[in-house]
Amino acid sequence: MRSRQKTFCMILALSLLSLVGSACAPGSEQKEKGPKIIAVTTLFPLYDFAKHVGGDRVEVTLQLPPGMEPHSFEPRPSDIIKLNRADLFIYTSFAMEPWAEALLKGLQSRDLVIVNSSRGIPAMKPSEEKDNRHAQNRHLDAADPHIWLDFSSAVKMIENIRDGFITKDPGSKETYEQNAAAYITKLKSLDERFQQGLRGCRKNIIVNGGHFAFAYMAKRYGFRYVSVYGVSPNAEPTAADLAGAMKLIRDNGLHHIFHEALLKPRVAEALSREAGVALLKLDPAGNLTKNDFDRGETFLSLMEKNLDQLKEGLQCR
Ligand SMILES: [Zn+2]
Repeated sequence: MRSRQKTFCMILALSLLSLVGSACAPGSEQKEKGPKIIAVTTLFPLYDFAKHVGGDRVEVTLQLPPGMEPHSFEPRPSDIIKLNRADLFIYTSFAMEPWAEALLKGLQSRDLVIVNSSRGIPAMKPSEEKDNRHAQNRHLDAADPHIWLDFSSAVKMIENIRDGFITKDPGSKETYEQNAAAYITKLKSLDERFQQGLRGCRKNIIVNGGHFAFAYMAKRYGFRYVSVYGVSPNAEPTAADLAGAMKLIRDNGLHHIFHEALLKPRVAEALSREAGVALLKLDPAGNLTKNDFDRGETFLSLMEKNLDQLKEGLQCR
């Protein structure tokens, strides 16, 4: 009873909101194009991409609560309610969000457009990625799901999202195409800054005290990459993983070890103390901390910070 009441109230509140929204929309353009499209996204990069591509036409929500590590999320009943009201559901892949598969099974909405943003993007398996012996040991068959960290794949994801919006809302095709093109231009310029910034560095390897998220980035910009956790940070690193990381830091004369925003830096801190190296932060950006949300960080701003940290760690300046 309580949950039915809650659901009813939520639907009522949302209908009122959309009424208020259309009544307050500036000019008549909004009316002609109909109500806003509602898109539910799983991860932060999709949320940010969808907001840029959708612009004023789309209301985008992110399923992950701020600060939640994406690999360990479990959908709540409220997520199904939201999804039943949505026009689009945008996810990365079932390898990245196994919980998305479960969510889709609980759906009643028949005309939901489901956008698999990794469509057409070849996924690497950690076993194909040289130099990550730790991830290799544990995740031979799992594809590396962190595709947005290769910016050429991010472009493809944006095109997939654009096409999803056009399927649902063909009347605004031009808007989506223009917005997507503008954002892709920004991504390409980011890619160039990475290419230039990471050229001619004194080191060619980084050690991450977090999980195995940056292999695509490492491959694209030509550095070696090792992490102490596997593809997902759910399993703790073994003593052998830690010893291997220590050895790489020493053998390569590294001055830094990386840690991640959403993982407690316990392991990276212990390694930094033990090896006498400084900590730097790399953000896989699958989700944001609450602080970063409140500060209005974007995918592009986080990647700019990653570039600065990588230049430091690889001694590019
Ligand atoms: Zn991850």
